Amino acid sequence: MIWHFDKRGDYTVRSGYRLASSFLKSDVGSSSNLNRAWWKFLWNLSFPPKVRSFLWRCCISILTTLDNLARRKVPVSPFCSRCGDDKETQVHELFSCVHAEAVWIQCGWWHHITAALNNDTRSILERMKTLLSQQDFNLFCMVQWSIWAKRNRFVHEGYFKDPNYVVDSAKTMLNEFQNAMASLVVQVRPLQVIRHWSPPPSGCSKLNVDVGFWCGNVVGVGAVLRDHVGSVRACLALPRLGSFSVELGELFAIRESMLFLNQIGLQVHCLESDSTLAVSSIKQNSPFSA
Ligand SMILES: [Zn+2]
Repeated sequence: MIWHFDKRGDYTVRSGYRLASSFLKSDVGSSSNLNRAWWKFLWNLSFPPKVRSFLWRCCISILTTLDNLARRKVPVSPFCSRCGDDKETQVHELFSCVHAEAVWIQCGWWHHITAALNNDTRSILERMKTLLSQQDFNLFCMVQWSIWAKRNRFVHEGYFKDPNYVVDSAKTMLNEFQNAMASLVVQVRPLQVIRHWSPPPSGCSKLNVDVGFWCGNVVGVGAVLRDHVGSVRACLALPRLGSFSVELGELFAIRESMLFLNQIGLQVHCLESDSTLAVSSIKQNSPFSA
């Protein structure tokens, strides 16, 4: 595939962003037409970020359908890449194309959609929001994303899936995401007394390390290296898979931080952690002041 918005014909995030911005300027004009409550509702939906982004692009009509590209002077046929019967507008591709229609019939929502096909994508979404329960509306959005994803796979890879697969994959993705969100409960550690940071001796650097614990065997490592005037020389924040006790988690965070700083060639003269056990175990056999 040739990407017409880059000199070399290759897709880059930068060229994609420029294209999206141009679509936004030409189609939307200003945010005055956009209903703030609608956007708030849309961005608060419990979906993976890529689906929320997709819905946003739908609502401001910047999906890269062939009709959208042709109207912007890209030398492509504007007709539907799958059925060829009509221009590949967003509404056609997501709702009225015979391939999309089969999916919506499978879902049992075609009778709601067919009455709204003269409207734009956002209007159809808003209509469905009033007609469906929250859970069904979530699935409606996910099916819409799934139709677009399958269309892209057909265009780029010639890969075609039947309507049952589109609906099933949307249900699976929604269920998996909602289950993952439900299990993502942060374990809150007891409130600790806040201590002010004290600088290391002149010419030395101090490393402050902490670890956060999440359900599902995930720990978050955070570290900051500062010099004697408090200037940050390096910082680190990363998730790691593993099941640890608090003390072991703190030691693990210290180890990860030290390895990182060693890799980028920075020295640590002092180490500070809120785990006295971790600090004392390091003190026993360490060149650091901890
Ligand atoms: Zn079509």
